[in-house]
Amino acid sequence: MSELLFARYAPKNLEPVNTIGAKWARLLDALELAPTVKDRSVCVKMHLGGGTGFTTIHPYLARVLVRKLREAGARSVFITDSPGAVAAAVERGYTTETVGCPIVSLSGLADTFAVDHPVNPPLRDFTSVAIGGEIIHAEVLVDFSHVKGHGACGFGGASKNLSMGCVTQKTRGRIHALEGGLSWDRTLCTHCRACAENCPNEAISFDDQGTFEVFYHNCKYCQHCVLICPRKALAMEGGGYRDFQRGMALTTRAVLDTFAPDRRLFINLLANITIFCDCWGMTTPSLVPDIGILAGRDIVAIEQASLELIRTEDLIPGSLPPGWELGGHGHLFERIHAKDPYAVIEYLHEFGLGSRDYTLREID
Ligand code: SF4
Ligand code: SF4
Repeated sequence: MSELLFARYAPKNLEPVNTIGAKWARLLDALELAPTVKDRSVCVKMHLGGGTGFTTIHPYLARVLVRKLREAGARSVFITDSPGAVAAAVERGYTTETVGCPIVSLSGLADTFAVDHPVNPPLRDFTSVAIGGEIIHAEVLVDFSHVKGHGACGFGGASKNLSMGCVTQKTRGRIHALEGGLSWDRTLCTHCRACAENCPNEAISFDDQGTFEVFYHNCKYCQHCVLICPRKALAMEGGGYRDFQRGMALTTRAVLDTFAPDRRLFINLLANITIFCDCWGMTTPSLVPDIGILAGRDIVAIEQASLELIRTEDLIPGSLPPGWELGGHGHLFERIHAKDPYAVIEYLHEFGLGSRDYTLREID
């Protein structure tokens, strides 16, 4: 049974001291950071978003975290993400001035500063991952994640922030590739070209006969094309999302293995819970009201609690994209994306990374 701290977004009254900004500071005090970070270098892994997507973690929350880490005696603190996200972070308000510490690419400017680590156990030919050098060389990891939906695996939280977020683009592509390849149904396709126009990597084209082609060198297996196709003419085939989830869990384990268990902190923000991942580079309505912030030292527990706090009955009317409806059964994310979001938690638990049982200690 793991204990998680929980700061609820909803205030009990309208005094500023009872709102989330003040509770956030109290939550960090309750985490007792000093034994973990004193005299050590601390990397804060965030997803800084992209494009016009600004429903990521607000710079204010990052700034308070950085200040608390420093007050607890951290020797150095930096925020890190992939090279592209860091280069464009200023567009969404993240600068050294706003967050209070350097923002550095985890794998260098050219995405080549990385160290290969084995995955254990291997999944077919998925035997190693290239983890960003700045992650490897830090002494303490703060996994500061924004929880949201995800088309490829149901949801993105602490595990996705580490697995897809702490590795090079090449490794990221290999994790996505565990899902398989794209199939195209010519009989359904109207050649509207929405897939090609919305592929963030210009990987899709049509030949002279109108046949769909993918340049897999560029494809990141993000499935934007699958989801945007109005005719459902595209599908991702292969090992499926469960292999993708398992690959994420294996990579999460590889990243966490580079830090001693007492030098890992997990913080999940459950606000602006959008339908898709921040990597889509756009802002859409929140699916449910803002819930709060969870923090703890057990990645399994924090992922489990995050999903359990997101309830189908809280779905905000009008928050789904036009024409979308809830399907099937299960968790809200499963009814939207048809992927069991608990799968990655099952694998993280199988790999001994934590407990699915937890208690919540609410920060008043
Ligand atoms: S979005 Fe779908 S229907 Fe449109 S061109 Fe692409 S595959 Fe065809
Ligand atoms: S999966 Fe993503 S990167 Fe690959 S072709 Fe589709 S939209 Fe482009």
